[in-house]
Amino acid sequence: MGTSDFIYRKDNVNWTVKELDDLILIVKYLLPRGYLGLTVYPFILLKNKNLKFDEVLMNHEKIHLRQQLEMLIIPFFLFYLLEFGVRLIQYRNWNLAYRNISFEREAYANEKDPDFLKSRPFWNWFKYISVS
Ligand SMILES: [Zn+2]
Repeated sequence: MGTSDFIYRKDNVNWTVKELDDLILIVKYLLPRGYLGLTVYPFILLKNKNLKFDEVLMNHEKIHLRQQLEMLIIPFFLFYLLEFGVRLIQYRNWNLAYRNISFEREAYANEKDPDFLKSRPFWNWFKYISVS
């Protein structure tokens, strides 16, 4: 399967280990301190290679893949940064602001459910945008 097949594949739930493996990049020094993974569609950047066996982390990053895909990628990052700014004003705390970005709220709330992406509604993250 070529790379373009991945990029245009709508359903990123049932990737095989090999398929997913091709999209995982190990970047020891590129990630901000304290972060284990970062998703920039279609790639998942991980701090070390053992993390790809961490099912909760991988599910978290796959939720971000889905969010990015459904927002056509660039708008995802613009909105992510914009909301992070708003949350920083709201919480005055870097980590709290990050954890309360609606994309992160959705990912953290559902990362432990391995079947979440199978039934996740389109633009589901929007349910997590409340101010509280
Ligand atoms: Zn996240």
